[in-house]
Amino acid sequence: MTDTRANRVAKRIMVIGLDGATFDVLGPIMDHGFMPHLKHLITTGTSGILNSTKPPMTPAAWTTFMTGMGPGRHGVIDFEHYDPQTNSLKFNNTFQIKDKTIWQILSEKNFRVGSIHLPMTYPPQAVNGFMVSGFETPSVADNFTYPADLKQMILKEIPDYTYSTNWQRGVLGGRSRFTENLEYFKRNFRQNVRLAELCTQRYGWDVVMVLFKLVDNIQHKCWKFLTPEADDKYPTQKRMVYSCFQVLDECIGKLMALAQEQEATVLIMSDHGHGSLDGRAQPNWLLKQWGFLNLTSSLAQFTARVNNLIFRMTKKKGGRYAQPDMGIEHDLAIDWKKTRACIMHAGIYGFLYLNLKGRQPGGIVDPSEYESLRDELIDRLLSARDEKFKQPVFQQVLKPEELYRCTRANHPNLPDSMLIPRTGLAVVRKIRGFKAVKWALDGRLGGTHRVEGIFVAQGPGIKPGLKVNANIADITPTLLAMMGLAVPADMEGRALSNIFEPALKVEFEPPKKYLPTETSAEIFSEEEQRLLTQRLSDLGYLE
Ligand SMILES: [Zn+2]
Repeated sequence: MTDTRANRVAKRIMVIGLDGATFDVLGPIMDHGFMPHLKHLITTGTSGILNSTKPPMTPAAWTTFMTGMGPGRHGVIDFEHYDPQTNSLKFNNTFQIKDKTIWQILSEKNFRVGSIHLPMTYPPQAVNGFMVSGFETPSVADNFTYPADLKQMILKEIPDYTYSTNWQRGVLGGRSRFTENLEYFKRNFRQNVRLAELCTQRYGWDVVMVLFKLVDNIQHKCWKFLTPEADDKYPTQKRMVYSCFQVLDECIGKLMALAQEQEATVLIMSDHGHGSLDGRAQPNWLLKQWGFLNLTSSLAQFTARVNNLIFRMTKKKGGRYAQPDMGIEHDLAIDWKKTRACIMHAGIYGFLYLNLKGRQPGGIVDPSEYESLRDELIDRLLSARDEKFKQPVFQQVLKPEELYRCTRANHPNLPDSMLIPRTGLAVVRKIRGFKAVKWALDGRLGGTHRVEGIFVAQGPGIKPGLKVNANIADITPTLLAMMGLAVPADMEGRALSNIFEPALKVEFEPPKKYLPTETSAEIFSEEEQRLLTQRLSDLGYLE
């Protein structure tokens, strides 16, 4: 085998992940002079758009970052996955990733790695280095670090340790609640730096990742304060939200200093971009109108919603108002005996499954009808128009084997069709009102994901001032090539060799095999599933 180590161009690498970051937001903030460190990296390094996965969802995109493979290979498309055999939804975790991650590949080659708060790393894997799981950690009582004793050090050194979103609704608190929420974000950002410093001292690293998850959450919650119109409409709130980004930039500055001390090349990236959420597409309402989906009695619907509302208001666990079923039935009581197709879960895209005989426990669609029904639904969904603008609700409705060029046999759990809404819309599972699209009320504008994320790289050999357009799958092969390692030939991404002067030399090695499916015990207990559902629902991820 060729020795590729001579091709190595980086002594060490620090990757800073800004979840959901977009130049649409960061550009104006930098123009105001509020993010000098990021601006400096862009000026002195290469930068550009980093295109996300399809769908542009956090778990899918970060898994692609970690594996260099698309969702059609690693199989992760959303926070949850639907299990047809049990007709239920389950949260994704580390064990759903069927490919080797960058952390495993580098560990096997004796490089020291570290990962802080990267999504899809719970439970933490054994690596040659350290791993701190992020916001999917059910609670600090669980093991969220590798090695396990790292947890004690974190809780000792950072007594008010934060790792998940703690957004509190401002119904009663008003402005002070809003301030508290923003202060929480800032605290979390600063703690990430502290964590990185502590772990560097204790373990050292060749490649490290520090992820700022809450950048995404600020935008989901505060999108209307980040638009140009906010200058006149909400000047105070805009300044307050901008101050979070100032703290983020201070943190980037501190990490740059740490990187310099370690002689590390710095990469900054996001998993997807962000834009306005103008409305929610409700394909289950369409399926109901067309007679493919039936709900149980309206009384059952009403009871489910009231119970859910009471639960949210009281947050009582168990007791008289036990939380209603948080699975597919979560505020949508479906009559499976009369349902031929349903959006089982949604994350920007809608994930449609037929209720197939022999696959789902109560399946009613005969396998001989599978293709014709699937085609009929695709045609109908593509012709659906919203009531307000009379525009197509979905820009594409695709079969996963077309979208990913994968086979159904390898991925029996992928949806039968994937509904891609038009820009500005996000698909939801629930049905509210009597329309294909439920538009955001004026003044209640939220944020949602866009495909266009960010990429910045600065360090030895990286061209200054160069603009690129890359894909998130390109990052892992780039990191491998930078460390002088061969890239597995079947990685979907391509190493970004041209951002280097001279161009990075890339060698390939034979494809990696699928990892055998690990039959892990249930990772999340029922109570933890509920907790995560609540956490993600509060963010508007599960609707
Ligand atoms: Zn994200």
